[in-house]
Amino acid sequence: MRSTKTNWLDMFPYEFQEKQKELPIVYQPLGICEPHGQVAALGLDTFKAEHLCRTAALEVGGIVAPTQGFHAHEAGASARWLYENVGETDPLMTSLPPELMYKTFLYQLRAFYNTGFRGIIALSGHGGAHTQDFKRIAGHFAEATGCRVWYGTDFELAGPAFPADHAGKYELSTLMHLRPELVDLQLQSLEQQPASGGRLAIHSSAHEATASYGRAIVESCEAAIVKLVREMEQELQSGHAEECPRLDYQAIEAMWTQLLQQPWVGCSPRVGQVEVPSHSRWKPYERAIHSL
Ligand SMILES: [Zn+2]
Repeated sequence: MRSTKTNWLDMFPYEFQEKQKELPIVYQPLGICEPHGQVAALGLDTFKAEHLCRTAALEVGGIVAPTQGFHAHEAGASARWLYENVGETDPLMTSLPPELMYKTFLYQLRAFYNTGFRGIIALSGHGGAHTQDFKRIAGHFAEATGCRVWYGTDFELAGPAFPADHAGKYELSTLMHLRPELVDLQLQSLEQQPASGGRLAIHSSAHEATASYGRAIVESCEAAIVKLVREMEQELQSGHAEECPRLDYQAIEAMWTQLLQQPWVGCSPRVGQVEVPSHSRWKPYERAIHSL
């Protein structure tokens, strides 16, 4: 019987080999734990990415890699965003410095490539200025190796018919559809309680969220990702399969050095952005330039 498994984690080696032979495409769901008001579970972004990757794998084929549940936040433009939307309370977030995430991502691409994948779909449920940096890394890796790499967010997949937001009508609706037990709008009253964290970045459109709107968003994203993977499948079939040399650390470090020639968008405030006040807990991350 043909296996319906989609998760790398669940597969025996022979199942993995069969599945990869059918379609050498891997999915990397990316998410983060971060607040979406008092009313939603912290993993909202992650659930969106996991669902869409699994749906595409079931529909078209390919293997879903273990979820990357840490992500870039708090640095660059996000420092100001957090100052305005969360304030000085702790946001219960799984964030890492952007540059560390970027380099990790580059090494994740290496792992996929060396394992034999020739198409990579990296789908993030968490957006922000860093998205441009991840796309640049994906493009650079693709050019250097000939591997197909797509990096994007569910917001892009949903398209202009469904305006993106953070913890508003868009995001809360999607979670109402995917995991209804993880949204409770009545919990908004907790905002008033001392030490609760307050608004925790909830959007003013949150009360407009419905499960049926969420279903429309998710179905639009599902159709878009399936189309994207089918196109990648076509490209892979029309290309000729070459034996590719394995990528060692040195090869990746050389790519990293080249990537550092341009500044990262996600590590600095946006042009003209108002400065984070010096007393804020987010101030140290406003200019997060490292050299790893
Ligand atoms: Zn979100």
